[in-house]
This record gives sequence, C-alpha cells and structure tokens, in this order.
Amino acid sequence: MRQIRVAVVGAGIAGLALAAALRRAGIDCHVYEQAERLTEVGAGVQVAPNATRLLHQLGLREQLRAVAVAPQAIEMRRWDDGRILQRTPLGSLCRQRFGAPYYALHRADLHAGLLSLVPPDRVHLGARLVAVTQRADEARLHLADGTTVAADLVVGADGIHSIVRDQIVADRPRYSGQTIYRGLVPADRVPFLLTEPRVRLWLGPDQHLVCYPVSSGRQVSFGATVSASDWRAESWSARGDVADLAAAYAGWHPDVARLIGAAGTVNRWALHDRDSIDRLSSGRVVVIGDAAHPMLPFQAQGANQAIEDAVVLALCLADAGPDDLDAALRRYERIRLPRTTRIQQQSRANAETFHLADGDAQRRRDTSAQTASGLDRHEWLFGYDAEQATTTSRSA
Ligand SMILES: Cc1cc2nc3c(=O)[nH]c(=O)nc-3n(C[C@H](O)[C@H](O)[C@H](O)COP(=O)(O)OP(=O)(O)OC[C@H]3O[C@@H](n4cnc5c(N)ncnc54)[C@H](O)[C@@H]3O)c2cc1C
Repeated sequence: MRQIRVAVVGAGIAGLALAAALRRAGIDCHVYEQAERLTEVGAGVQVAPNATRLLHQLGLREQLRAVAVAPQAIEMRRWDDGRILQRTPLGSLCRQRFGAPYYALHRADLHAGLLSLVPPDRVHLGARLVAVTQRADEARLHLADGTTVAADLVVGADGIHSIVRDQIVADRPRYSGQTIYRGLVPADRVPFLLTEPRVRLWLGPDQHLVCYPVSSGRQVSFGATVSASDWRAESWSARGDVADLAAAYAGWHPDVARLIGAAGTVNRWALHDRDSIDRLSSGRVVVIGDAAHPMLPFQAQGANQAIEDAVVLALCLADAGPDDLDAALRRYERIRLPRTTRIQQQSRANAETFHLADGDAQRRRDTSAQTASGLDRHEWLFGYDAEQATTTSRSA
C-alpha cells in the first residue's frame, strides 16, 4: 500500500503533536508554519491527565517531569475576602486515580518537547498558507511565496483564525467581549503563592484571575480577564498596561493586588470563539485543535483537546491508505465531535458562572461548588483515554 502524503498547516501544539503521533504511526508528514522562528507566548498552560497520559506515550515523560509543576489542588476563591469556594485535590491523588499527572507548564516547554519529537527537516518555517484547493484525490496548499504543495491529506492545525477551516464551513471567529491579560512573575517576588503549588482562581463580578507556578516553580503564570465590549487589538495579542490591569482589579483580595503589583509586563489578548461544527473534514481536508473547535480558556482544555485530536487522527490514519481516507476521517469525527463539543459548551458556560455578580445566582453557584468539590466530577474529562477510545471504535 502506498504511504499517504500528509501536509500539516501550523506548528503550534496541535500541529506538532500530530507530526509526533504520525511519526510514531510510521506516517511521514511535513509541517508548514508561517512564523520565521518558532517561539511560544510567555505564559503557562495546564495539562490534565487526559493529555499528559498521551504525551507520556509519545515519549515526553522525562522531559515534562523535568520542567513541570504538579499542583496539589485547584482552588476557587471569592474575589474580595478570598474565602475558598471549591477545592479540587490534584497531586498524587489525581495521579493515582487517573494514572497520569496534572501539570502546570510554561508553554515554551510543552512546545519544545513536542518539537523534539519531529525531525527538523519536516518543519518548514516562513511558510504562510494563503489558500487551499482540492480535487477528488488530492489537496494543495498555496503558500505566500508562490509555491504549492500537493498532498493526499491537508490537516489544518492553523489555530482559531484558520484558513483551512474555510474548506469545511463558512464562519468567522467572534469576539467574546472578554480580554485577558497574561504575564509571568519571578517566583521570588510572590513567595506567598508558592508555599504549596496550587492553581488559584479568584472569581468575581464580570472577571476572574487564575495563577499557577510553572518552570519547575521558578515563575508564576497568571491570566486575568477584563471584559471590554469595544477593545480590539490589531493582532490578537498585544502589549498590555499593568496599571490598567491593576485598576480593573482594584478592591479585590490583597493577594491579587500583590500578584499584579509584582508583574513587570503583561500581554493583552482578545478572546474569540466560534460555534461548534458538525463536521471536521471535507474531501481531502481535516482540521484539529483550535482550527476545529476553538474554546474560551475557562476550562483549560484547548491544548489538551488539540493533543487528543492529534493522537486520535494519527491512529485513524495508521489503518488507512490513500484510497480509504474517507472512512478514516469519518471515524476521527465520530470519536472527537461529541467530546470536543461538550468541552466547548462547558468552557462557554464557565464564562457565565465564573463572572456572576454578587447576589442569589452567585450564592447558589457557591453552594453547589462546595458540594461538587473533589475529583469525581472530573472523571469524564481527566479519565478519558483517547487511545483506548480509538481502539474501541475500531471494533465497534
Ligand atoms: C489565555 C489562554 C489560556 C489558555 N490556557 C489553557 C490551558 O491552561 N490549558 C489548555 O489545554 N489550553 C489552554 N488554552 C488554549 C490553548 O492555548 C489552545 O487551545 C492551543 O494553543 C491551540 O493550539 P493549536 O495548535 O490548535 O493553535 P495555535 O496555538 O494557535 O497554533 C496555530 C499555529 O498555526 C500557525 N498558522 C496560523 N495560520 C497560518 C497560516 N496561514 N500558514 C501557516 N501557519 C499558520 C500559527 O503561527 C501557529 O503556530 C488557553 C488559551 C488562552 C487564550
């Protein structure tokens, strides 16, 4: 059987995870990335057991352990007095229950780990996609420098502003009305946040702040939302102003003020969203990661889902030749769509519940958060094994 030729657009977490998973499956692929240099934004990312187990299988167990922080808990607190609303235990309890750790990482460390699994000559930098065309048995990338690339399958891993997605659906990213300031603070400026490594969230009217240690505990990453109906950055990331951020969080708990006060610089992002779609492929084109199912970051699962997509798609393709790609793509969609749609919806719902104004609805939220503390309610999310789900779907 002739090997399939796969062209991946985008060398973010989704694209690199796919290249690594395809390589493990014995499928060669080339990745086309618009950036001239591979850099990741200076910020953190939480990677839950549903994705760390897959990263371990790909060969990153030791690399991640060397740079990650394993938080002992996720704590949600009230915005003004800091009262704990909910505590989800992580640490060894989480590892034992789900067979893999919950990690807080610097994004650059995750990106570098994935990149190390891909041969350098398979990643083409400065390769900006401007259009995709396809016919029955082939798809073509048209790059900004005038070159074209033919492949049996084009995979769009080109993020929320995906061009590849246009082959599947005619929609556009929608501004959510929320922006987020992100920053990294040297740990020695905020020692009160490191007594025990935790993911800490403070929830309040219209906004919330989340922080956790990364880089083996040398830095603390934070993200603080501020709603702004009229804010538009030219790009979707831009330098923010620490004084504006501090003003937006005036009156919040003193720990929040101390953290913001310790930040030297911040970036500000406009958060976008798109509706769920009911197909992830069309002809010889398929999408993964944010190109497939962008989600507001309030469930901390976008990168996790990108990694699950990559592993599932690679396993589906491993069984396919150029003539039976359709069946492989249908199987990928069948496995992925129910799960990613549910998580997209949950992320959107969190945007509402995290930001309730003080009052009856907020009090009901806090009461139910207390009763829902613990790992049970995360079973469906963290306990999911994407490799197992793909194997099971083969026999179904
Ligand atoms: C504030 C914030 C916090 C988050 N926190 C978490 C978290 O804790 N846990 C979690 O799991 N997720 C989190 N996420 C979500 C996560 O960051 C994304 O889901 C994830 O990065 C998506 O990866 P991707 O590879 O699909 O897309 P991207 O990271 O956007 O990568 C797309 C790549 O494609 C390239 N590209 C784009 N267009 C072209 C083109 N035309 N030609 C060639 N290349 C192109 C881009 O340069 C880029 O390298 C967070 C998101 C935000 C905004």
